[in-house]
Formats: sequence, structure tokens, C-alpha cells
Amino acid sequence: MGGYPAAIRASQLGLKVALIEQDKLGGTCLHIGCIPTKALLESSELYHRVSARGAEFGIGADKVTYDYPKIATRRDAVVNQLYKGVQFLMKKNKVEVIAGNGRLKDRNTVSVGATQVKAPQLIVATGSVVKGLPGIEFDGEFIVSSDNATLANKVPESIVIIGAGAVGVEFATLYNQLGVKVTLLEALDRLVPLEDEDVSKEMLSAFKKAGIDCRVGVRVKGAKKARDGVSVDTEQGEVWARQLLVAVGRAPRSKDIGLEQVGVTLHPNGFIKVDEWMRTSAEGIHAIGDVIGGYLLAHAASHEGIVAAEDIAGQRLAPMEQELVTRCTYSHPQIASVGLSEKEARDAGHEVKVGKFPFTALGRAIIVGETAGFAKMVADAKTGRLLGAHIVGPNATELIAEPALTQLFQGDAWELGRNIHPHPTLSEAVMEAAMAVDGHAIHI
Ligand SMILES: Cc1cc2nc3c(=O)[nH]c(=O)nc-3n(C[C@H](O)[C@H](O)[C@H](O)COP(=O)(O)OP(=O)(O)OC[C@H]3O[C@@H](n4cnc5c(N)ncnc54)[C@H](O)[C@@H]3O)c2cc1C
Repeated sequence: MGGYPAAIRASQLGLKVALIEQDKLGGTCLHIGCIPTKALLESSELYHRVSARGAEFGIGADKVTYDYPKIATRRDAVVNQLYKGVQFLMKKNKVEVIAGNGRLKDRNTVSVGATQVKAPQLIVATGSVVKGLPGIEFDGEFIVSSDNATLANKVPESIVIIGAGAVGVEFATLYNQLGVKVTLLEALDRLVPLEDEDVSKEMLSAFKKAGIDCRVGVRVKGAKKARDGVSVDTEQGEVWARQLLVAVGRAPRSKDIGLEQVGVTLHPNGFIKVDEWMRTSAEGIHAIGDVIGGYLLAHAASHEGIVAAEDIAGQRLAPMEQELVTRCTYSHPQIASVGLSEKEARDAGHEVKVGKFPFTALGRAIIVGETAGFAKMVADAKTGRLLGAHIVGPNATELIAEPALTQLFQGDAWELGRNIHPHPTLSEAVMEAAMAVDGHAIHI
């Protein structure tokens, strides 16, 4: 995902660019990540909304069904349309695409099969791969990874998901909305453990209400095929389902591509070390995206690609700031955040003020029938500076862009609250939460 925006930006800045790709342009995000999973979720949301809630909205919906192969066909059509778009963009920007596996030979040379591609500046954007759990082998049918689950053309009757991070809760949402019995196991003591603690509490309550069997603080010891399904052995006992999805994170694709031999330093966990201009320890080599760690998200990869291209072209605009990366999870309810959680802000030594606004008090949320969740703003008590924003609820992934912009502009919570928001919209939750920081929310 990060490689092609880097190529486009470099080309815009007048550089001659070649992009080496061993598989398909667009990477994980386009083919087995963001895009196909969100296309699947769009279908499951629609099915669930009409079948479970149609009557509430006055819509006769007695016999709503879904056809998963057709859902999968639409998923593929969405991906293909965007894939063609990326191919077109490469032509439009005169980026030479070289098909094949690239390996660094020296700081200015990449071998692709028998061909040597030479350039004074290189960007490594090789991404990441799914991580498994020791002793649990993926077989693609009973024990699956997110790659298998994303590309499948059918859903199981029941599933155990190990890992309640972004990928785990998105798949839990997908299956739950399609009527699959879901058991979600998380080793830590809360769902979405990287999010603000209030968000985790809200997710647990929403998931339980939706009928997802959520078990936190559960250590998995192993799993094996049993009784035409999978038996998962945990310290708290056995859990069985037709299928097991292991969603415990991703590992960098930094092995066997010649990084060490050209002097690129890795962190102990295999991610590449870079500075804020995406420069590695090796002169002339930048690295971006999942392979450098931090937030493993497409928009982070893309932005890092732009920063790297500008640095190479000698046109530095602004360095990469990880604190400004928005984090989005397309579960139901959705989750989005930027900046520091309340605890992180306190741990960093800030005296903190918090403003929170529940969607139950918002006109638009009541209209759309999605009142679970809240917007929460974390500000510095002395300066008023917005330090973080956390939203769980309808369209959270769209709403987070505004607090993120406030943080980019180093703005204060009151400025965000003072921005006149259209009514009735979900964005008013952000405004009210920002006003609540100083006790000025109108509707609570
Ligand atoms: C199930 C799932 C859902 C996700 N949903 C979201 C989401 O909703 N939003 C979001 O922001 N992020 C999401 N992500 C994360 C997102 O997909 C990644 O953060 C993003 O793709 C990272 O981009 P990248 O450029 O670093 O790597 P990639 O997109 O993986 O691209 C790396 C490319 O490099 C190629 N490559 C690797 N090694 C070589 C080599 N030696 N030679 C030639 N080519 C090579 C690969 O074939 C690949 O095309 C999701 C991920 C998963 C798995």
C-alpha cells in the first residue's frame, strides 16, 4: 500500500521511478486487508440492519437472506475496480512497474531475478505477514488466518477467534452480523487493548449485547482438529467451533531481502529502524509501512511513503509524526482514535481534563438508530491543548478526521468545540465532547 503512493509522489517531484512488485500492486491493503474486509462488512451490516432492525424502521423484512458467494463476488469486484485504478495511476505517473521478487544487492542495486535494477535512492516497502501462535498450524480450512478468512467464499456455522485487536473484532462483527456463533478469546484483560480503557469497556458491553461470547484474560495453550471442527485448549478449559481464526498480529517482511548486508539496522523484533524522514541506517535507503512497525495501517504507510519521496527529492515538507496517525477499526460499533489515551496522557505527566459525550444524547444518532458509544476528548488541563480523541460508535472512522486535524494544527479542545457543526449530524458528538472538556456541553 505504501509503495505506490511513494512512487507517485516521487514522480510528481520529477524523479524517475521504478516500482518492484512480486505479486499485485496495492499489496495487503487492497487484496487481503482493508478493502476486501470492508466490502464484506458493508454486506453484513446491510443484511443485519434490514433483517434484525428493518421492522423498527417500518420496513417489511420478513425473509431477508444472504448469499455469501455473491457477497464474495462483490468483494472481488470492489478490489478489481480499485486494482485497475492503481495500474492506471502507475501509467499516468510514468512509474515503471517491474514484476518480480526484489533483493538488495548493494545500496544502489536491487536484483529481480537475473535483472539488476540500479538507483541512487531506494525505498523498502515490503509490508508484513500474518503471525501465528506456536503449536497452532494454519491449514486454511479449519485453522485459518485473516488472509484465508478474507478470501473465503463461505462462512462457518461457528467460529473461535483468538485475538481481540482490530482484525479480531472486525471479523467478530462480520460473522456475528451474518448469524455465525462467535467466541472471541483475548489474552489481555480487555477487548481492543491498544485503545482507551473506556472504549474497551464500551466494546465489551456492545459485543455481549450483540451475542458475541467474549472471554478476556484467556491464555490459549493449543488447538487441534476435532469433531469436524477445532478444539481450542485454554487455561480455562476447552472451546470448540467449526473454525478457528488466529488474529494475533503481523510480523515484518524484512527477512531474506538483503537488508543486513547493505547495513540496514533492524529492531530486535525484525522491524526496520528509521528516523522521522523514513531514513534507515544505510545511506540512500528509506523504509516505510508495516515493515518499520509503529501503527500497521494503510494510511500510515501511504503517508510515510510521501514523506520518504519528498525527503529523497530534497523537498522536505513535514516529518512523519506517529502521534498524528488515526487508528480505525470497522467493527460494530466502530472505533477510532488519535493521539494519547487518558491513561497515556496522565502517564506522560499531563494534568488532564476529559470531555465525554454519549451518542444516546445526539439527535442524529437516534435518527440512525445507533446510540451505543461516545466521543471522548482528552486535553491538557493547563493549556487546553487537545492531546487525544477516542470515538466508539456510528461512523467513528469518519468522525476522527476532525480531531486529528485539530491535533495537526496543535489546536485546543475549545477550538474544536467552537467550530460550528452542521445539525443534525454525528459530528456534533465530537463538538459536544470537546465542549464538555470545559463543562460547556449543551446536550448533557
Ligand atoms: C485483514 C486486514 C485488514 C486490514 N484493514 C485495514 C484497514 O481497514 N485500514 C488500514 O489502514 N489498514 C488495514 N490493514 C493494514 C494494512 O493492510 C497495512 O497496514 C498496509 O497494507 C501496509 O502497507 P505496506 O505498503 O507496508 O505493505 P503491503 O500493503 O503489504 O505491501 C507490500 C508489498 O510488497 C510486496 N513485496 C514484499 N516483498 C517483496 C519483494 N522482496 N519483492 C517485491 N515485492 C515485494 C508485496 O507483494 C506487497 O504487495 C489491514 C490488514 C489486514 C491484514
